[in-house]
Amino acid sequence: MASNGNQGLGIDFQPGLQAGLVNNRGADMLHEIGIACSKCRTEDVYEGMSGDGKTRRSPNCGACVDGWLFRSPLVVRGLASSVRQQKNILDAGLAQPGDMTFSIGPGFSDCGAETRRVGRDDKFTATWSQPLNDGQTIVRGAATFHENFELATGISESEDRLWYEPESSIWCEDENGRVYVEGSDFLLGPGRVISWLADGPDVGTRYTIKYNAFFEWLCFQPPQERRDRDNRDLGPLIFLRRRHIAFINDNPVISPEDRVSITSRTSC
Ligand SMILES: [Zn+2]
Repeated sequence: MASNGNQGLGIDFQPGLQAGLVNNRGADMLHEIGIACSKCRTEDVYEGMSGDGKTRRSPNCGACVDGWLFRSPLVVRGLASSVRQQKNILDAGLAQPGDMTFSIGPGFSDCGAETRRVGRDDKFTATWSQPLNDGQTIVRGAATFHENFELATGISESEDRLWYEPESSIWCEDENGRVYVEGSDFLLGPGRVISWLADGPDVGTRYTIKYNAFFEWLCFQPPQERRDRDNRDLGPLIFLRRRHIAFINDNPVISPEDRVSITSRTSC
């Protein structure tokens, strides 16, 4: 009987080297656990027979983001190994522009996060900002006029909802070519809102705002487990997609958490 002559590469992982690399060269992201919203996502096989009058999947559920709740924010450190700027194939399917692979080392932590496992549908928020593509077009006051006034959006009449928390404005211009300036015409934040001061666009006017955003990313594929000999955990490889691309029909609600700035959420 043949014996096993393969001794492996003969090179073993040095404890601390990988963790040191991640700690020294890594980037911080805010990790939140994604769970299904029990209010609007029915997965219990008996529910259809219970006759209790509860509705199934509600497109206007005010409790969640498109069927998900994000809980327990914690800072994790990993290597932002690539941000794809083109469509191409990767192990997890098709990469959309802006997708990122994020590599968390074992023992990743800033806030005692060693015990944290990352799963599909978890959310990450970058603690650094990037320009938002060609910006976001908004209809001034649309969240609160006509029938929308009856929606409980959590947005006041002087505010509009942003996809991401803004760090600063790059350019803001309405459909009539009028330009607006942060500080004198509008204020950004805290959280995912723009607040208009006295002389903003008329209600119903479209405008575009391009801003530096703290992008949020969804873990849209199950993380890839990576194990070495003796089941040693090398940390998961995580496939991330920007929130406004993953959730085409985003939730129209601004929740109290949406008004908390990233800087006050990243302290341990
Ligand atoms: Zn819901």
